[in-house]
Amino acid sequence: MKSNAVIAIHGGAGTILRASMAPEVEMRYLDALSGILTAGQRILAVGGSALDAVEEAVRLLEDCPLFNAGHGAVFTSAGTHELDASIMDGRTLEAGAVCCVKRVRNPVLAARRVLEKSEHVLFTGEGAEAFAAAQGLEFVDPGYFHTDARYRQWQLARGEARAMLDHDGATLEAKAAANASADSLPHEPIDPNRKFGTVGAVALDAHGHLAAATSTGGITNKQVGRVGDAPLIGAGCYAEDATCAVSTTGSGEMFMRMVAAYDVAAQMKYRGVSLSEAAGNVVMEQLPRIDGRGGLIAVDARGNVVLPFNTEGMYRGYARVGEVPVASIYA
Ligand code: ASP
Repeated sequence: MKSNAVIAIHGGAGTILRASMAPEVEMRYLDALSGILTAGQRILAVGGSALDAVEEAVRLLEDCPLFNAGHGAVFTSAGTHELDASIMDGRTLEAGAVCCVKRVRNPVLAARRVLEKSEHVLFTGEGAEAFAAAQGLEFVDPGYFHTDARYRQWQLARGEARAMLDHDGATLEAKAAANASADSLPHEPIDPNRKFGTVGAVALDAHGHLAAATSTGGITNKQVGRVGDAPLIGAGCYAEDATCAVSTTGSGEMFMRMVAAYDVAAQMKYRGVSLSEAAGNVVMEQLPRIDGRGGLIAVDARGNVVLPFNTEGMYRGYARVGEVPVASIYA
């Protein structure tokens, strides 16, 4: 039986720091993406579910300090970390999500438990942590989420006060650019001050089922309690076997207002257009209407994969079963 099984992942979108395209740093990102794609691919190759594949890929992305989710998450205005994650099963339309968790090592695992073990869809803060604890999930000291690179980015953002609350916006970009060369770090292929960092995965399994998962630390210097699109089903994550599975990254407020992930599925369902046309319309036409910047990854039931973004780059890749993973950063 020929399988169309495929997994795609992203690690955030943003503006490319041309000055810092050190090949060895690019390689670190590409290697991380390829390794994680291979892990997801392995699950699909033995007939594993799309749900298991996206959960595992996002768990690994959360554990990787290069990406803004789990270990490596950005700082809030209070110098803390508040993490959001979601997961959805396209076969049953079941979904689970958590937001504002501070001590759960892997928020995507908590989201999966919500999907499976709870009659609810979304838990926040203390309640989410109590649920995760009751499920026996691993807790960490908040210091676990600290990385020096994100700390320095937070210091820069604090200096900009309000302005840097959102990575989006031309004025902010110009200001951040001035900082970028001097102080900001570095050597990340996508400028960390202008990067929307979220991680996500979508997959089609050999049984024809779709799933999506998304996880994030949010945006640098965000206000305490701020929640973006990542844990909201329909905004940052959506999966439905009949149409597609979608995970987004970008200026979360705009993705929420556009109900971006669901809009891709809705356009396929109600306008009868292809995955590529629906996703292209959302990212290149709908989101820009309200200055929404970022991108998404999506897969449909036939195994078509699209990874559109309206920024200069997006950490991304896909892997079909039996083929070499493809990872890229720039447009
Ligand atoms: N969409 C995420 C949020 O708004 C951030 C991101 O993708 O960088 O929390």
